[in-house]
Amino acid sequence: MVLGSHLSVAKGYPQAAQTAVSIGANTFQFFTRNPRGGRARALREGEVDQLRNLMEAHDFGPILAHAPYTLNLAATVEKTALFARNTLREDLERVESLPCSLYNLHPGSHVGEGTDAGISRITEIFNEIVTGRETTTILLETMSGKGSEVGATFGELRRIIDGVAHPERFGVCLDTCHVYDSGYDIKNDLDGVLDELDREVGLKRLKAIHLNDSVYGLGSRKDRHAGIGEGTLGLEAMVNIMRHPALKDLPFFLETPYDDLGHGREISLIREALGHG
Ligand code: FE
Ligand code: FE
Ligand code: ZN
Repeated sequence: MVLGSHLSVAKGYPQAAQTAVSIGANTFQFFTRNPRGGRARALREGEVDQLRNLMEAHDFGPILAHAPYTLNLAATVEKTALFARNTLREDLERVESLPCSLYNLHPGSHVGEGTDAGISRITEIFNEIVTGRETTTILLETMSGKGSEVGATFGELRRIIDGVAHPERFGVCLDTCHVYDSGYDIKNDLDGVLDELDREVGLKRLKAIHLNDSVYGLGSRKDRHAGIGEGTLGLEAMVNIMRHPALKDLPFFLETPYDDLGHGREISLIREALGHG
């Protein structure tokens, strides 16, 4: 099982890997830069090698880069669209320089212009920046549908992938809180939801799971994460997701509202729940 949480890399990537090890994780997710924007921190000499060594020594699964929340590829305001372009370009370069091949992003918000317009803006920026020569896979995260978010249905993700020039560079990251909030019943019909995902984008494109419980639940479109077993999904649904043959070998990342120690307790809770029957 590859399981970890979202960690800060502000003190360095090797330090983040050490923290992961200390909480019983064998992967982690990190922001490529301050989540609200700004530039990415310069890498220190030797930092990448230290990270790679730690990952090998502790048998890590794939780690996951997450774009800042302020990245909106569907932006209509020129300044925001320019930030999106530059961030996507710089982040892809940064991720290529790390032992990391997965870059997750929120597709974008159409801010009142409608889904069709949002999808064309998103694919336009991808086609401008993504060359096809990257070794990184760009993951489109499944969204809850709050506000004017694009990507709350598998069909919308498929339309984005259909519109890009290099679809082989794209995959999907399934966020359990988001899909439940957007109306996919992964608690009572996980197989049905995965069948639909397979029909729309193909299960082979699914590369990572954000493992979160949900405060408000099915169809709420709220996007409020709860601790594992503390929300409307519950621990049993979490265990079923982690045991599912189509999902069990993917990397799982906690984005629950806890600090590193709290995530460590959740990792123990999950290991125990999976170990018992
Ligand atoms: Fe996210
Ligand atoms: Fe997420
Ligand atoms: Zn969320």
